[in-house]
Amino acid sequence: MSGLFLFCRPGFEGECAAEMQDKSAQLGISGYAKAKPDSGYVVFVTYQVEDAVTLHERLAFAQLVFSRQWFIVLAMRNDLPVTDRITPICEALSALPGPAADLLLETPDTNEAKELSGLCRSLERPLARALEQQNLLQRQGAPDITLHICFLSATAAYIGYARSANSARWAMGIPRLKFPPQAPSRSTLKLEEAFLCFLDETEREELLHTGMTAVDLGACPGGWTWQLVRRHLYVTAIDNGPMADSVMDTGLVTHLRVDGFRYAPEAPVDWMVCDMVEQPIRIADLVARWIERGWCRYTIFNLKLPMKKRYLEYQRCLALLDERLRSAGIGYRVRAKQLYHDREEITVFLARD
Ligand code: SAM
Repeated sequence: MSGLFLFCRPGFEGECAAEMQDKSAQLGISGYAKAKPDSGYVVFVTYQVEDAVTLHERLAFAQLVFSRQWFIVLAMRNDLPVTDRITPICEALSALPGPAADLLLETPDTNEAKELSGLCRSLERPLARALEQQNLLQRQGAPDITLHICFLSATAAYIGYARSANSARWAMGIPRLKFPPQAPSRSTLKLEEAFLCFLDETEREELLHTGMTAVDLGACPGGWTWQLVRRHLYVTAIDNGPMADSVMDTGLVTHLRVDGFRYAPEAPVDWMVCDMVEQPIRIADLVARWIERGWCRYTIFNLKLPMKKRYLEYQRCLALLDERLRSAGIGYRVRAKQLYHDREEITVFLARD
């Protein structure tokens, strides 16, 4: 079989499949998506492997919202002998275009699949050695290719590869972030992941530094504000609820108990971040207003998707933003992703040119 293997949040297989179907149709490549509810992955089947390669080359991974990680499938083996899984995996990888520089052993992000992580760990070294002996893996000097082996069970795996520069940096698309003990809420990890996902190292240095200013709409108890103050930004935190002392004690935060939809900054700020739980289209409208009026240059916000028609709702919000900013003659770039630390929501980064 040939196609693309896409990791997604369990429960979002329909959105991941619909998005891939749309993108491949836009590129004029036929195929169909196979998705099992709550499996944590989608396989987009193409009629020939060249089509999967073309999709992987022409489609920027960063454009995919509902996919956490992806790779080109060279084979699906559901008969891996428990006594020797390595030989058939190496055979499947003999169709590689050249040696790869890295190897990832992965599973979908489900509780059942996580039980396979021990198997992945125990197989990693011997498999790497066998691949090196066959010149399929060459840690230094090889092109920017990563091998992916995704185990669905102890005897079944999808086997393939991806260009590292056009895929997620982390195995399964899951960054391993440690919860900082001083942060007041776990949602702090969402903003940290968003900064890692949407900005490269240089951008993080240039766009998040001492003396910059930010507004955090729906800030309490302060997990997102904490990410901003630890980078020494001045933050105006908007929320009727209480802010944690650990954040207020930094001296960098002004807390205003006002409605985030009515608040207007006295002077433009660099960043507006927004984690208010509201209808996504209201948030998109609010963000459009902030950008149109020049109140901020950069924004990161969440869209809490409804239970039904989530993909359509995301498209509706992005279309609203596009229409409003284009008609105001404002250039911008936008990226959206369902981050690992997101649940029913997606996170969006927008920068005014
Ligand atoms: N980002 C926060 C953190 O990391 O700690 C968590 C935010 S919590 C998910 C959503 C917050 O939005 C709540 O504290 C709620 O009071 C606030 N909120 C909801 N609607 C609001 C509004 N119209 N104006 C201001 N805050 C609002």
